[in-house]
Amino acid sequence: MQHIELFYPLLATPQKVIITMHQKPDGDAMGSALGLCHFLQSLGHQATVISPTNWADFLNWMPGVGNVIDYDSHREKATALAKEADLLFCLDFNILHRTKHMEHLLTQLSCIKILIDHHQQPQEEAFTYGISDTSKSSTCEMVYDFIIGSGYGSKLDLNMATCLYTGIMTDTGSFRFPATTASVHRIVAHFKDLGLNHTVIHENIYDSFLENRLRFMGHCLLNRLEVLYEYNTAIMSIPKADLLRFDIRTGDTEGLVNYLLSIQGIRFGAIVIDRDEERKWSFRSKGGFDVNQFARNHFEGGGHKNAAGGRSSDNLESTTRKFKQVLQQYEAQLQ
Ligand code: 5GP
Ligand code: MN
Repeated sequence: MQHIELFYPLLATPQKVIITMHQKPDGDAMGSALGLCHFLQSLGHQATVISPTNWADFLNWMPGVGNVIDYDSHREKATALAKEADLLFCLDFNILHRTKHMEHLLTQLSCIKILIDHHQQPQEEAFTYGISDTSKSSTCEMVYDFIIGSGYGSKLDLNMATCLYTGIMTDTGSFRFPATTASVHRIVAHFKDLGLNHTVIHENIYDSFLENRLRFMGHCLLNRLEVLYEYNTAIMSIPKADLLRFDIRTGDTEGLVNYLLSIQGIRFGAIVIDRDEERKWSFRSKGGFDVNQFARNHFEGGGHKNAAGGRSSDNLESTTRKFKQVLQQYEAQLQ
C-alpha cells in the first residue's frame, strides 16, 4: 500500500469513483463516505456511495444520504457502478470481509483501491494507496486531513463539514475518548467557521429514536444485565425474542454497550445480540484492557483498543458461556 500523498495527483482529472464503508455503517462510516463524496463531486468527479447493507434511521437526515445505494437491496445497480469505477475508496474498515456480501465484488475489481481507516491491523495488500492510523479519533478526521493534504482545502463547505462532524462526534463519544486531540478541536473550530450547527446534529443522532427503543433499553438494563465484579466486567446477552418484542431495527441497539462502563469500577463491558445470521458481540473497555485483541483472540473480530466487535456462529447460550470461560484468563489484567 503506497502513501496517500502519491495518490493526490489523480484528483486532477475526472474519475468515476465508488466509496464504500463497513456493513451496518455508523456515524463515522456514513459521515466519512458522504463527506468524501461531496468533496470529490466538488472537484468534478462522478462519485457514488455504496453501503454494503442498510443503516440506522438516525443517519437519514445527512446531506446526500438519499443517493446512497444499499448493496443488499440493489445488487445489480451497485455491481454495474462498481465495475465501471476507476477508483474505489474503502472507509472506516480494515479488512474487506467487513463489507459482508460485497467482499467478493470488491476483491474482483481491478481498479485503484484506496484505504482511509483508523482500525488496527489493516489488510494492506488489498489496497493500492492508503492511510491507516490508529491514533486518529475517526475516519472523518482522516478524510478532513485528506482534503487539506490534497491541496483542495478551499473546497470544504458546510455539507462536507456536517457529514465529517457527525463521525468525529460519534467516534469520540461526543469528544470524551482519549483520541480527542487538540487537532480534533481545531477541525471543529474550522467547521464552526463554515457555519456548522452542532446542536442540530447532536439532536438528529441522539434524540430521534422512537419510544420502543427507550423501553427496550430499560428492559435490557433491568433484565439482561449481569455484573461480574470479580472481573470488573459487565455483560448483557440479548435474545431474539427481546428484539421482536420491542420491534428493534438497525441502529436501535447502538449505545447500549456504553451503559455497562458507567458502573463504578467496571472496566470491560460486553454485549451479545442474537441476530438472524450470527451472534454479534460489542466490546468496550476503559483504560488498559485491549478489547481489539480480546475480540481477535476469541470472537473472530477486532476494532480498537477500547471499542471492538466480533461474532459467533454458536447459539446465544453457548457463546455467552464461552465468554465467561475465556474471561478467566484475563482476571489479572482486569484487576
Ligand atoms: P460496534 O461494537 O460499535 O459494532 O464496533 C466497535 C468498533 O469495532 C467499531 O470501530 C467497529 O468498526 C469495530 N468492529 C465491530 N465489529 C467488528 C468485527 O467483526 N471486526 C473488526 N475488525 N472490527 C469490528
Ligand atoms: Mn470509525
